[in-house]
Amino acid sequence: MTSKLVLRGENLSREFISGDTTVTAVKNCDVEISANEFVAIVGKSGSGKSTLVNLLSGLDVPTSGTVTLLGRDLSALSEKEMAELRARHIGFVLQKDNLIPSLTISENVAAPLVMGGEKLSSALERAREILGQVGLGHRADRWPSEVSGGEAQRAAVARACVGSPAIVFADEPTGALDEENGKRVREIFRQLVAEQGAAGVIITHDMDLADEADVVITISDGETSGRVVKGA
Ligand code: ADP
Ligand code: MG
Repeated sequence: MTSKLVLRGENLSREFISGDTTVTAVKNCDVEISANEFVAIVGKSGSGKSTLVNLLSGLDVPTSGTVTLLGRDLSALSEKEMAELRARHIGFVLQKDNLIPSLTISENVAAPLVMGGEKLSSALERAREILGQVGLGHRADRWPSEVSGGEAQRAAVARACVGSPAIVFADEPTGALDEENGKRVREIFRQLVAEQGAAGVIITHDMDLADEADVVITISDGETSGRVVKGA
């Protein structure tokens, strides 16, 4: 299969210096992610998963190595260009507290579209549509404080996908949920990502989740130990 390369991380390292100790959270990692791929990054707590994803999504800058997103070297971009690239092409779901508490669920989901210049009325219309797809049509006018943790995470996935980004990252998006809600959020993540034609990257320490992925990247002590393509 030859599908379009969306993201490439080459020889990525990230060191954190605190006092006189240096922690190398990510060491010489190479990562390639193509369009329509569902990728799981697995590893123990503290193995470097979040650091790697922060580098790949442009939230953090590597100590050495390069990240290329849609053919553009992230280190060559100005802060403004980086912000625009992120807003247009990258979706992100955190473990919890993704939603802005002062906006309703539909306003939260519409926010990336409005920030991208879309009219509020059409952005809200699109938000309601995608909320319907994740089974939250009836929660569109609620505040984040009025929905369950599982519902908030489904809304966060909808918001990450609403602008049809090229790649959507999720850092342990089900880590604060019970098993049933976690399963639902994972399914929605995979489905929405696929429907938008995006690549999906989901961090987890849960091997069951990794079983559902097309590609599994294992990380241990900051080093990725290869890329296992399922069914290959
Ligand atoms: P994971 O997401 O797999 O749990 P992280 O990427 O958060 O792991 O952390 C990897 C290692 O880097 C850990 O040893 C962690 O303590 C360290 N680390 C992460 N972020 C920082 C930081 N901002 N400052 C110092 N050390 C950090
Ligand atoms: Mg983490």
